[in-house]
Amino acid sequence: MKLTIIGCTGSFPGPGSPASCYLVTAFDGTRDWKILLDLGSGALGVLQRYVDIKDLDGIFISHLHPDHCMDLCGMHVAIRWDPNGWGRERMLVHGPAATADRMATAYGLPLEEGMHPDYDFQHWKSRQPVKIGPFSITPYPVLHPIEESYALRVEATEPVADGSPQTSVLTYSGDTDSCPELIEAAQGADMFLCEAAFEEGRDDGITGVHLTGKRAGQAATDAGVERLLLTHIPVWTDINTVVNEAKETYDGGIAVAVSGVTYGVFSGSQLGTPKSLPTAPVSIVRSAPNREWPGTKTRNPRR
Ligand SMILES: [Zn+2]
Ligand SMILES: [Zn+2]
Repeated sequence: MKLTIIGCTGSFPGPGSPASCYLVTAFDGTRDWKILLDLGSGALGVLQRYVDIKDLDGIFISHLHPDHCMDLCGMHVAIRWDPNGWGRERMLVHGPAATADRMATAYGLPLEEGMHPDYDFQHWKSRQPVKIGPFSITPYPVLHPIEESYALRVEATEPVADGSPQTSVLTYSGDTDSCPELIEAAQGADMFLCEAAFEEGRDDGITGVHLTGKRAGQAATDAGVERLLLTHIPVWTDINTVVNEAKETYDGGIAVAVSGVTYGVFSGSQLGTPKSLPTAPVSIVRSAPNREWPGTKTRNPRR
């Protein structure tokens, strides 16, 4: 599985990145399947540097704050008003129950028709996996001040060189404060893409909204994840502070999401480290990360 960061700035777009949007790709033995986790403010433009939007197989929305869903409005225009015709099925959108109405309201469309001609809206059911191509995506309800908010556990099963299937796991926290459901969602994940919007000390008066670096690290340790990729850091939060906090509570590899970077998501227990993959399948070799993860010399001993 391959994760490309389209947007990772917390709460609203920053000068260097749109708000939340992650392109996830996996190979089913025939073709690459491409899905989005969130499509937040400003993401639609940058997204087109990395993929033809007509090649997307579905969009999976964690919750309905604008920094996670608002570019569905722009995508609706791209689908409905392409002078050459969209030429595809309606775009699959999985999200909270209010997604269709919220988008219609945002655009000023009548609720009844709304964006239904463009999107096949489906609703999450807590802990019920959604299968699409090589992916299985399971939503876990998390702690955030909005009616429905989910962490998404994405499992991708891809064939390796001998044709046998191997599964890798990416968990995306969505927006959340510490909660047992987040640990459940991230249990043993090969990569934990986790928000860290708050700072210890500065934001102690606000609970039930976001994680700090320290709380993200603790969740990574409690869930026994292989690697921690911090994200959703707003422009007013210092990245070094967040990383140093995470190091206090997690001793595995930590990195910070950067817009435009692609990360390989590997099943460590099945394939070993990315550096020693002589017999790995083509799809996974292509996914090899192009940067080293600090502190990944040894696997997380607390798994
Ligand atoms: Zn957010
Ligand atoms: Zn939010």
